[in-house]
Amino acid sequence: MSKITGGCLCGEVKFEVKNDFSQFHLCHCQQCQKITGSAHASNLFCQAEHINWLSGIDKTKRFDYPNRHFARVFCTECGTGVPYLVNKGKTLIVPAGSLDLNEDTVLNVAPQDNIFWHERAPWYDVALTAPTFAGFPK
Ligand SMILES: [Zn+2]
Ligand SMILES: [Zn+2]
Repeated sequence: MSKITGGCLCGEVKFEVKNDFSQFHLCHCQQCQKITGSAHASNLFCQAEHINWLSGIDKTKRFDYPNRHFARVFCTECGTGVPYLVNKGKTLIVPAGSLDLNEDTVLNVAPQDNIFWHERAPWYDVALTAPTFAGFPK
């Protein structure tokens, strides 16, 4: 089973995880919009023991949202969301954006659905058809 490395933007937190994910959900709920500062969370699920922390776990902080199974673990230096345990420690949620992916990386799962779609950002439908540029707009 191949492994994929990941980490935060500043480089303090590093990990590797097996490319053996069971689920991949894009969550558009209002809590995920807040906590990512973006349109949706992109969450991969796998077994808890599939991760190997390489550095910086002491630089992370956990936030548990009250009254719901919803959490975020982030680098206290740069704020990047990194993997965290749910389901009494049995399941690991890996924010897809924290993985070191390139165009040759093939995840064993593809995004399977857009959940909490009725809560999606009111600008999201327009964003899907907006022009694309390789970098900043001309
Ligand atoms: Zn960081
Ligand atoms: Zn959500």
